[in-house]
Amino acid sequence: MTEPYILLAERLFEQLRARSHDGVGITRDTYGPGEQAGHAIMEECARHLGLEVRKDAALNLYLTLPGRQRDLPAVVTGSHLDSVPRGGNFDGAAGVVAGIAVLAGWVRAGMTPERDVVVMGIRAEESAWFPVSYVGSKAAFGLLDAAALQSPRADTRRSLSDHMRDCGGQPELVAAGVPTLRAAAVDCFIELHIEQGPVLIDGGQALGVVSGICGSHRYRDARVRGRYAHSGATPRGHRADAVVALAALIDRLQDAWAELEADGHELTLTFGQVYTDPKQADFSKVPGLVSFTVDIRSRDTDTLRLMDERLHETANAIADAQGVSFDWGPVSGSQPALMDAALRQALHDAAAAAQASVRDMPSGAGHDSATFANQGVPTAMLFVRNANGSHNPDEAMAMTDFAAGTRTLGRVLAERAGLRGPD
Ligand SMILES: [Zn+2]
Repeated sequence: MTEPYILLAERLFEQLRARSHDGVGITRDTYGPGEQAGHAIMEECARHLGLEVRKDAALNLYLTLPGRQRDLPAVVTGSHLDSVPRGGNFDGAAGVVAGIAVLAGWVRAGMTPERDVVVMGIRAEESAWFPVSYVGSKAAFGLLDAAALQSPRADTRRSLSDHMRDCGGQPELVAAGVPTLRAAAVDCFIELHIEQGPVLIDGGQALGVVSGICGSHRYRDARVRGRYAHSGATPRGHRADAVVALAALIDRLQDAWAELEADGHELTLTFGQVYTDPKQADFSKVPGLVSFTVDIRSRDTDTLRLMDERLHETANAIADAQGVSFDWGPVSGSQPALMDAALRQALHDAAAAAQASVRDMPSGAGHDSATFANQGVPTAMLFVRNANGSHNPDEAMAMTDFAAGTRTLGRVLAERAGLRGPD
């Protein structure tokens, strides 16, 4: 990628920042003014470059450089354009900007691909707004549950359906499951995304090739019940202390996690919310109830199952020993997604050719790529080094790393799409 396309990318990032800065961070609210602005900026740029512009019923954006053989399965790249409230400028948007920068380079050089190459601006990836994962990519494949359209947005309490319609979408077509993308018509999907953890910064690599996207197994509303009692009048042997029981569970599961890791499993285990009932708990009472959440993530379905088994075995043993009971509530989660081996290798080769340092790594966070992979589309993800984590205003990606990532992405897209020079 030559210099002008980095300038184009910088200009797009600047426009995005200007139109979605909320005074503290970046807010591109899902099916609201922030996300709309992001889509408008990308659409305008694509029109300027002469790309075809299409939108589906859910308002995903498809920016296409037509190929010589338009009936061949298309090469697709892109990412999402929404953000969490007070998030950063690069989460999601980097993948769309990179795709546009690649196509801009080809257009200016008069190159034409054999197949269509499509940059997608995907809607509604962040579940901070609606409690549904991957709204846009699921809708593109006709997979979004009709019931999900009735979910309220966290801030406005208005439904996904209403928000989508306000922005110009057609929720009734989304509910009917009319697909815009069919797996057979997609040659591959490659998503560039900033890394949202510290692995690349710590390892000193500019780029990461994602080996797989973690699935999850979650209890969002679990409880342990003991018995409320007077803190001074109840001897140790007569207590059923819900806090003590949950503390034991959390502590023993740290050991179980370490043991699974020692056996070669990769996973995370998080008790993100732990709270007594503020109406009943008191400093002078033995706590009788603790509510908590469990979030287990892994790339491997067996690992998710093993950790879940350890969770229940350990909880049952604690319940027997301490006279408490566990109530798990509903289970939710998502399937892990494997990345395509040939595309992973192609990304490694392309990074080497771009003289960028690169490593393999799993993705602990979920991404739209999981939807594509689980539909059987050969899928890959390329992470770009980013400091200070993500989902906060301090995301920091160096443009030199972004350029290395965009060159790497461009090389693989070109190979895959059969890019050729002017005749
Ligand atoms: Zn993201």
